[in-house]
Amino acid sequence: MTTTTPEYESLPALATEETATRAGTVVMKFGGTSVADVERLKAVAQRLVAAREAGNRVVAVLSAMGDTTDDLVRLAHEISPKPKARELDMLISVGERISCSLCAMAIHDLGHEAISLTGSQAGIVTDTAHGKAKIVDIRARRIHEALDAERIVLVAGFQGVSTDFDITTLGRGGSDTTAVALAAALGAEACEIYTDVDGVHTADPRVVPAARKLHAVSYEEMLEMAASGARVLQLRSVEFARSHDVKLHVRSSFSEAEGTWIREEDKRMLEKALISGVTHSTEETIYRVEGVSAARLFEALADAHVNVDTVVQAGDEFVFSAPDRSETDAVLDGLGVQWSSRDDLGQLSIIGAGMRSHPGVAAKAFATLEELGIKTELVSTSPIKIGFFVPRGKVEEAVRALHEAFELDSTEAVRAHD
Ligand code: ASP
Ligand code: MG
Repeated sequence: MTTTTPEYESLPALATEETATRAGTVVMKFGGTSVADVERLKAVAQRLVAAREAGNRVVAVLSAMGDTTDDLVRLAHEISPKPKARELDMLISVGERISCSLCAMAIHDLGHEAISLTGSQAGIVTDTAHGKAKIVDIRARRIHEALDAERIVLVAGFQGVSTDFDITTLGRGGSDTTAVALAAALGAEACEIYTDVDGVHTADPRVVPAARKLHAVSYEEMLEMAASGARVLQLRSVEFARSHDVKLHVRSSFSEAEGTWIREEDKRMLEKALISGVTHSTEETIYRVEGVSAARLFEALADAHVNVDTVVQAGDEFVFSAPDRSETDAVLDGLGVQWSSRDDLGQLSIIGAGMRSHPGVAAKAFATLEELGIKTELVSTSPIKIGFFVPRGKVEEAVRALHEAFELDSTEAVRAHD
């Protein structure tokens, strides 16, 4: 009855000459909270210097400080109700430049050499889709030269330069993708993602206090988690990591503790817990559309860069979910079709590589929800995920119940192994 195949985009082949693994290259990415003020930027500088002193070639990717990007987006909308996409990118790309240049100054004060680069200077070439540009090439020569000169290289995250020579941004959360793409292009051993949580959890700890930090997650599991509400990594960065085989390590920037490794599936992951986590999201709208062919409908949505998630067809009717309300509404109005939408549902998903070979997961999940009197309105599956749309007000209760039913609060769930 249902299908979901998240459409993973095709990924660029990275310049071969530059992909040869160079021993000791590390890419370290720091999120907005980790660079939120001067003290934190100094702490990041210290961490980078420590990695350099340990003998590594160090490339850092920084996000904008705190809420800078949100503030810039707001400012644009104060000036104009519909800012031009090119100018918006020109504006919102500056937050990352601020972090990188300040951090480079702090590194100099610690007696080390550093250089900050914009995405463009770092050789990150993208397509021309402003606001959600895709990386098409990385010309890393300048980074290599700086590393060869023993400098710490700071690259402004979330941005590049388009094939039309305009500044582009990679979509919210895009610094993750900058970091992974650089790790792939530079042949780094791993990409360390420093953030304000200590790793990937079996569920959002704010909703499930008993949630545990996972030691290891496969790329496929992380893709499903990122696509279904886990906020820790941008979806595209995980796609990139998987297709270029970049090991990710998500960890806290406020401690030395090990975080969560995201890497190729390994049978020890499967021997442990069947399910790796329960995710949820309450931001999608469900659309019901009639009177249009599937090809025409989904082509129009794709042209508007709307990322459709769950799709269900019954006869002439299509039901799908999409996160981007205003753009989807405009596309459907433009097609002149009959449509309706609802915002009263939220999605929860159970995810686990072990699901592929163990029947009964869906049965247990449905039984758990039924026992609570929670009605599912739409269900979608992939080989390692089952997603349920339920009334929005019931989402958190359902997450807690599934977390308990699949014993994700047990020590086995952690999947700890060396
Ligand atoms: N600063 C950008 C954002 O807030 C990109 C990032 O932090 O990854 O979305
Ligand atoms: Mg982020």
